[in-house]
Amino acid sequence: MAQYEAVIGLEVHAQLKTKSKLFCSCSTQFGKEPNSNVCPVCTGQPGSLPVLNRRAVEYATKMALAIGCTVNERSIFARKNYFYPDLPMGYQISQFDLPIAEHGKVDIDVDGAKKTIGVTRIHMENDAGKSVHSQADNASYVDLNRAGTPLIEIVSEPDMRSPEEAVAYLRCLHSILLYLGICDGNMEEGNFRCDANVSIRPVGQEEFGTRAELKNMNSFRNVQRAIAYEISRQEDLLDDGEAVVQETRLFDADKGVTRSMRGKEEAHDYRYFPDPDLVPLVLDHDWVEELRAGLPELPAARRARFIEQYGLPESDAELLTGDRALADYFEKTVDAYDQPKKVCNWISTDILRMVNECGGSIASCGLAPEEFATLVRIVDEGVINQKVGKNVLGELFAEGGDPEAYVKDKGLVQISDTSALETAVDEVIADNPSEVEAFRGGKTKLMGFFVGQVMRKTKGQANPKLVNQILADKLK
Ligand code: ADP
Ligand code: MG
Ligand code: ZN
Repeated sequence: MAQYEAVIGLEVHAQLKTKSKLFCSCSTQFGKEPNSNVCPVCTGQPGSLPVLNRRAVEYATKMALAIGCTVNERSIFARKNYFYPDLPMGYQISQFDLPIAEHGKVDIDVDGAKKTIGVTRIHMENDAGKSVHSQADNASYVDLNRAGTPLIEIVSEPDMRSPEEAVAYLRCLHSILLYLGICDGNMEEGNFRCDANVSIRPVGQEEFGTRAELKNMNSFRNVQRAIAYEISRQEDLLDDGEAVVQETRLFDADKGVTRSMRGKEEAHDYRYFPDPDLVPLVLDHDWVEELRAGLPELPAARRARFIEQYGLPESDAELLTGDRALADYFEKTVDAYDQPKKVCNWISTDILRMVNECGGSIASCGLAPEEFATLVRIVDEGVINQKVGKNVLGELFAEGGDPEAYVKDKGLVQISDTSALETAVDEVIADNPSEVEAFRGGKTKLMGFFVGQVMRKTKGQANPKLVNQILADKLK
């Protein structure tokens, strides 16, 4: 059977976090009564005219600069014509021949393999409304609250060769958008969406194969699954001597498969033409340069700084800086207790586990960075042991509180008093004569058992290092 190589290009839609819509002053607020955030412009009433939202242009420009695009100081809005009930104007306002930005790049890293993915273009466009299908009423409803919300579409070159590369690229874009604070990046709510174009070709062949466009993936994991499934589906087709059809396919997350939705339309099907209601978008050169100068530190730069400044391994730096809020939390903690590697270890294990249990955002952690720093310090200083420390973190995670006061209050302070520990050890030895005999006869694995017994006697508060020493001494 032939060996194939996958070719993947992504089209990413990011909803821009503006207060009002792209061409009218309606609110973009999510979750309002259907059709309450609407006006003549975003419902396509005859005679209404679009007025461009400056903030949306600013956000699109920031993203363009952040991924090294050339910003076109003159770009054109075009009408993309198609009929759909949730598109009252009968066309989407987008950009076609002259988008706001082109020729960017994103550096990705998959298990240490670094690669640059080209970004073809970024264009601005407005979102459509939503069709709501009700089985109970045997009817479909249209909610236009989302109609007219600003989006940028970021189109990649077909540079990715595996589902892992595609997800790495997507994660990079996601974290940059969040660093810039211009998109909520919530895939489940649909304000960060991705279509994946997937084809395969025999290894060594230059020419691309026919692609399928995959839609309906609402998590990073599903993007990965959908692409992986699609690659193997296409491989099976070619192996059977059949052809891949150019089409749009929907991912079914329950079954883990993609299914044909419709034939793929070509650009000419949309009869694009410049929107006569909108003048060309002209950006002031100095304004663009001001935005460039004002860009925040981005994930790649921050990762490099974490390695340099805190002496962290690349994988830790990557983990911490992928999420801006998490990186902020780390830095504030280290400000209060200057032990970067130790703080990082606590975050990458315990904090992240709890964060994931509470919805995935560090915002769910009520323990202030300064309080967390105190916890890491008192474990370090041996005031409490590691295990008690983990429990205290669990108790204080949601609501916060001073760990020092908490452990005093609850009497959790570690027992490092040698005589108290000796008493406990003596008792354990007296209670377990046969184990003691076995240990002395060479069954040294029983050490763990004895330590466990002493810990039980001291309610987990004994200093484990001391317990080990005393036991070793007394069991000789
Ligand atoms: P549209 O999907 O709107 O027709 P394009 O033709 O510009 O837009 O392509 C969209 C995406 O498909 C781009 O990300 C591009 O890299 C990718 N792409 C184009 N050809 C292929 C191919 N043969 N295999 C995989 N991806 C492709
Ligand atoms: Mg497309
Ligand atoms: Zn409106």
